[in-house]
Amino acid sequence: MKFVFTCDDVGLAPGKQAVQWFEMVVEWLNGMAIPGTFFWVPKPPNGPSDENEFWMDAIRRARGDGHDFQLHGLTHHCLEFGPPQESIRRHAPKIFEAYDREPEKWEREHSVEALRKSFEEAATIYERAFGEPPLVFRAPCFGICENAYKAMFESGIRYSSSRSVNPAATGYVITGRQELEPWQPDYPGKPFRQGPGVLEMPCLEDLAIRGVESNAFDALLDLFKREVDNYVAGLGDWPCGVFGSHYHSMAKQMALTSRLYERLFDWMAGQGITEWTTFRAELE
Ligand SMILES: [Zn+2]
Repeated sequence: MKFVFTCDDVGLAPGKQAVQWFEMVVEWLNGMAIPGTFFWVPKPPNGPSDENEFWMDAIRRARGDGHDFQLHGLTHHCLEFGPPQESIRRHAPKIFEAYDREPEKWEREHSVEALRKSFEEAATIYERAFGEPPLVFRAPCFGICENAYKAMFESGIRYSSSRSVNPAATGYVITGRQELEPWQPDYPGKPFRQGPGVLEMPCLEDLAIRGVESNAFDALLDLFKREVDNYVAGLGDWPCGVFGSHYHSMAKQMALTSRLYERLFDWMAGQGITEWTTFRAELE
């Protein structure tokens, strides 16, 4: 069985340190012979990403090594393509506050027409940077709505990975709240059709999003294994899984995170997950 290693937020943070962190992750992936699919933010607050030469130089090198880049929102505002999955409210209520204050305003911003403009702007910047149209979209903060799938389809994007299978696990690692520990998925894991014809491919949680504590290493590895087991069972006969990560979370504790992932991927190989691919290689 195959998996896609996805890694979010490339291009979002300005500055050299973010680029160095990204390059650390690329180097580690190269050493593991794993091609990554990086989700790239086209229009962060500091300006269009295709004009950021620090980032683009590093991204071009990574593409030369076989890594894939796809679309991660437009500006990376958590509400720009719809409210996040409701269950995320349990561990991250703050990201819903702006929506709850002015739901009518957000509903206007989430009209098919407004969202189509956002998709088209994102795709235009992507094409300027990469010379080809984007294939897969991931909404920031897993915030997406029905209209966004319609607008995505109308903009020519047919694949999305904008849902988290079991956000409770992320909530558990962030808050330590015991009631979030049991497996309680929002989605079955297996990709499903959304809107007029977008294939939504939900993502396995990034359980290292807040780092890896050395004294909790074994417990986190066990939780990861359980997540993979349950997620793969949910995929059924679907041949390809989606692994979620963030380059900045990884790089801040690169030694521990890479050791955790290496142990996990070794174990996954023993479960028959022996091939790592990119979304572009898999779907095109
Ligand atoms: Zn993100």
